[in-house]
Amino acid sequence: MARRVVDVLVPVAVDQAYSYRIPDGTDLKPGDVVSVPLGSREVTAVVWAENHNPDPRLHNRLKDVSERLDVPPLKEELRSFVDWVASYTLSARGMVLRMTLRMGEHLGPERVRMGVRLVGSPPQRMTSARHRLMSCLSDGLLHGKSDVAREAGVSASVIDGLVDEGTLVTEPMPREAAMQKSDPDFAVADFSPDQKTAAAALQALAAGDEFQVALLDGVTGSGKTEVYFEAVAEIIRRGKQTLILMPEIALTGQFLDRFAQRFGVRPLEWHSELSPRTRARNWAAVAAGEAQVVVGARSALFLPYADLGLIVVDEEHDQAYKQSDGAHYHARDMAVVRAHIAKIPVVLASATPSVESEVNARKGRYRRVALPARFGGQHMPQIDTIDLRREGPQRGRFISPPLAEAIGHAVERKEQALLFLNRRGYAPLTLCRACGHRFACTICDAWLVDHRFRQRLVCHHCGFSMPRPHQCPQCGAEESLAAIGPGVERLQEEAASLFPDARTMVLSSDLITSIETMRTELNEIAEGRVDIIIGTQLVAKGHNFPRLNLVGVVDADLGLGNGDPRAAERTFQLLNQVIGRAGREQGRGVGYLQTHQPEHPVMKALVACDREAFYDSEIEARERTMYPPFGRLASLIISAGDRPTAEGFARKLVAMAPRDERIQVLGPAEAPLAVIKGRYRFRILVKSARNVDLSHYLRDWIAVGPKPKGNLKLEIDVDPQSFL
Ligand code: ADP
Ligand code: ZN
Repeated sequence: MARRVVDVLVPVAVDQAYSYRIPDGTDLKPGDVVSVPLGSREVTAVVWAENHNPDPRLHNRLKDVSERLDVPPLKEELRSFVDWVASYTLSARGMVLRMTLRMGEHLGPERVRMGVRLVGSPPQRMTSARHRLMSCLSDGLLHGKSDVAREAGVSASVIDGLVDEGTLVTEPMPREAAMQKSDPDFAVADFSPDQKTAAAALQALAAGDEFQVALLDGVTGSGKTEVYFEAVAEIIRRGKQTLILMPEIALTGQFLDRFAQRFGVRPLEWHSELSPRTRARNWAAVAAGEAQVVVGARSALFLPYADLGLIVVDEEHDQAYKQSDGAHYHARDMAVVRAHIAKIPVVLASATPSVESEVNARKGRYRRVALPARFGGQHMPQIDTIDLRREGPQRGRFISPPLAEAIGHAVERKEQALLFLNRRGYAPLTLCRACGHRFACTICDAWLVDHRFRQRLVCHHCGFSMPRPHQCPQCGAEESLAAIGPGVERLQEEAASLFPDARTMVLSSDLITSIETMRTELNEIAEGRVDIIIGTQLVAKGHNFPRLNLVGVVDADLGLGNGDPRAAERTFQLLNQVIGRAGREQGRGVGYLQTHQPEHPVMKALVACDREAFYDSEIEARERTMYPPFGRLASLIISAGDRPTAEGFARKLVAMAPRDERIQVLGPAEAPLAVIKGRYRFRILVKSARNVDLSHYLRDWIAVGPKPKGNLKLEIDVDPQSFL
């Protein structure tokens, strides 16, 4: 009798599942996690379906499933989600599956790990590696072998050498302690009446145990976190799991502590910087249902929760939720999809909801839960514009006199000031004063950014860098190079010269080497060991700096007018958020916007604290122009090693677009970033009415269109967030 056959989805860039035979004596069901041969390797994969009618001619050529792995099967709900995301984003299903299988290298039963301990006297021959290793082990305790090797920066052979000499012994490590339980009643907050109402609404939502979306809409400092913790508590009581999504996991140190203060233990973390072993352990804890609460970056959405009961999307408007390589998905939108499939509630939290969510709340599709005031009656920051046309700084300076005066007062009062500028490095452009030569990347359509701390000129698109030369490469003039425009490093220089006694700190992603250093620096600020903070958007997100009362936005116009349909929304959200860092504790926050256009609707809404006016005008504009959420968009990005190939393909593709009067195909046009890493880029924008299944249209189109060959690449981005 022929053996049964199953279709197995493998985590590589293919869409279809492959057929494998089930070995005798094994039983396999859809969802089982298996190991299968694929080409010359073995991969971890998932049984997707029973195949009742395998082609008899192929049957003998099929390979066998190697084994079923000892992990819980992927639930139907997660498999449907993988299919849905792949179909919507036009990604290969295998690529989406891969995100659910990121469980580190060591699957299956946990291996016994070996540790080492310092026992004997120092070796005869001492090297610096040996010395480092021994000082890491000087506490006499048992350390994981690979951990201590990494910590001391030595190879495993250095450890083995010292074991041979009797200086160290190896012993098996004890098993990891079981996960501690969160206590839903550990320390319940004392809520204000507004908060109490909101918390009760979210708790009811959690208890409702069905698909429903709440928009937790509260000004910065209103206590959104404390309030949604009540929904989390309810899910813990019900023995189910909660996923809390964060846009930027590196920034959640304070959050983990707050969670522990409320629930007695830290939640489980999920992000790309976990070590393989931690990742494997966390993955298993999620799949086994031992992890009650997971705090994670967008990829946490694809984990195999045993019993997911609630998803919270914190800072739901944040564009970091959009993944822009591999599968182009938006984690906030996909969180709503996953909740819908799993029939569970979802909470979207923000002080400045995305226009999409705001419209859904206005139309009653989402339930709005509002926190209109700061906790403890603190006032919202007072916001003013500084008109750079009249009150601007002198040439080559970027802090205007009124802003400098305000910083001076803050420093005198021993309060903190934050200077916000969303530009890394020292200066965005370097040019030669003698001949006008501008330093550009050789393989991107971009200027090189001067980074003084690193002493290099850097391309922000491809990472290319070179030392800052002393001579102009074009005309040979010496010491003729001028830095044009500000970056955070240059601002620090200016702040330090204006306030020589103040302690300044730059916070910028390129200066942060790890999540740990980031967390340490944020703590230093929170503890008041810095007077003037100079930061990029890294500082805008979710921190609480109790001594910070003044925020100066150095270039409020920076994000406007770059052809992005969401420019106004983004600028409003970002500035609102960054100024919202001020006065959280004492309620005396002040924000200054240095701008060339104080009459711009975004500036006016910020100054007047009139959020509704901003949303009204923005929603009206989107409706008029049929931009999201009133219409749909997709981008097709075509790139190749030379311009004619990219352009030729793009034109052919457009010519093959199926006719549909509800759909507009715009382009191809050269992308605003026309060359990245030596690849020439063209864009096609597809625009449709809201009720059109755009993914379906795109799939039909791609099927009849030209096929990308050679080094030509076609990327499809449904609901694009970036138009560069
Ligand atoms: P949001 O996320 O809305 O900006 P947070 O949840 O971070 O606000 O709260 C702002 C600050 O107020 C935090 O320090 C928080 O601990 C505090 N806070 C909010 N609500 C309460 C409460 N009911 N009791 C005590 N402290 C609170
Ligand atoms: Zn470059």
